[in-house]
Amino acid sequence: MPFTLTFHGAAGTVTGSKHLLELDHVDGRRTRVLLDCGMFQGEALVDNRDRNRHFGFDPMSIDVLILSHAHIDHSGLIPRFVKEGYKGPIYSTPATRDLCDIMLMDSAHIQEYDHAYDRKRARKRGREPEQEEPLYTTDDVRPAMELFQCSEYGEHLEVAPGITLFFTDSGHILGSAAVHLILDDGERTMKLTFTGDVGRYVDRLLPEPVRFPQADVIISESTYGDRDHASVAEAEDELLEHVVSVCSDRKGKLLIPAFSIGRTQELLYTLNRLSNDGRLPRVPVFVDSPLAINATEIMSRHAKLFRQEIREELDQDPELFNFPGVEFVRSPERSKQLNDHKGPCIIISASGMMDAGRIRHHLRNSLSDAENGVLIVGFCAPGTLGADLIDGYEEVRIFGDHVPVRASIRRMDFYSAHADRGEMMKYLSCQDPTRIERLFLVHGSDKARKEFKSHLEKAGFTHVDLPGQGARFTL
Ligand SMILES: [Zn+2]
Repeated sequence: MPFTLTFHGAAGTVTGSKHLLELDHVDGRRTRVLLDCGMFQGEALVDNRDRNRHFGFDPMSIDVLILSHAHIDHSGLIPRFVKEGYKGPIYSTPATRDLCDIMLMDSAHIQEYDHAYDRKRARKRGREPEQEEPLYTTDDVRPAMELFQCSEYGEHLEVAPGITLFFTDSGHILGSAAVHLILDDGERTMKLTFTGDVGRYVDRLLPEPVRFPQADVIISESTYGDRDHASVAEAEDELLEHVVSVCSDRKGKLLIPAFSIGRTQELLYTLNRLSNDGRLPRVPVFVDSPLAINATEIMSRHAKLFRQEIREELDQDPELFNFPGVEFVRSPERSKQLNDHKGPCIIISASGMMDAGRIRHHLRNSLSDAENGVLIVGFCAPGTLGADLIDGYEEVRIFGDHVPVRASIRRMDFYSAHADRGEMMKYLSCQDPTRIERLFLVHGSDKARKEFKSHLEKAGFTHVDLPGQGARFTL
């Protein structure tokens, strides 16, 4: 069995992306490649705490780690992985490396904070804390960052004997890539593509996902495999409508929980356009996330990765994410002051799924007032506060408090960074389905995967698998 593939995460769930590829060479050597090293988030938190501490394989036995993009559900366990003995290279695009630098540090702060919180609570109840140590600490981030080796889109690299890697732009977030491997065990070659997360075919900051060469085996995401996003043409108007209805009509606060990377900048870009056109009501806009501020700087630095039209626009307006009325909030003190802010405003804050970050303070402070509104612009994994709000809970728990939900809760699909079903079909249409030996669907709920599978079968992809956690396949 020369090639085997084992799914150690995002298999029937949307988080914890981790796929292990083993290549047995004819001369008896074995090479182990890990695709992504993501953290489990949300859904059944208690199980996930345990799963995040046990990889299901020995990190020391892995030769190469290849990272599709910087989102924590794809990169978040890297510091732990290195702490447990991984010493090989971590391949990513340069922008992914830059984003990981700030995101993993932010994640380490959250791990330390959560652990301290758990300890305190356990002590109060006269119990031992569940975990001796945080999952990882800020000290674990630097050694991990030193292992990064960057590769530009399209560049071919031999990452191990018999394994050639190249990335293509998947248009999902800055630096995001589909991972393509050409495997040669000395007897046969096989082309494997891992899509990572796939972006959208709409006019946004980033270009469309790029077509990729014919593969033999594909591991594909399927987050929105069961639905199509609403039409995007009216996105600008729709966002404006939400602002007017909450801030102008009700004189309330509009909270927009958003991923610090990508989503926040897309929102700022739309608000900037509305402001340039004189259509945005004059209300203060607070971007309350140090991570988002750092990410905005990194995005400006990598502006060459933006869509052509945006790059041209940049020549006219070099401050794509800045306009009168915007305040970037770094310090915790200033963030706390926003609680007492009187009058209408827009607060964009992380995290998008509302399971961590400053947004939780704003929600605790604002959810119980009917004049306020929450606009949810991204995917929320089951079990997160965001999912509870979408499901219409009348009361939620935040920092141990029961908070009644009286603010309006609205959703907008446009800012989702994930392709919908139609866009995924378009993305895979560059492939001749009769030449695909296996297609594995990951990173989606079982409902999304099943519906996507039936669509793919209609399009001629006949060998579609829905691997479960720990499932192992010989290729
Ligand atoms: Zn992602």
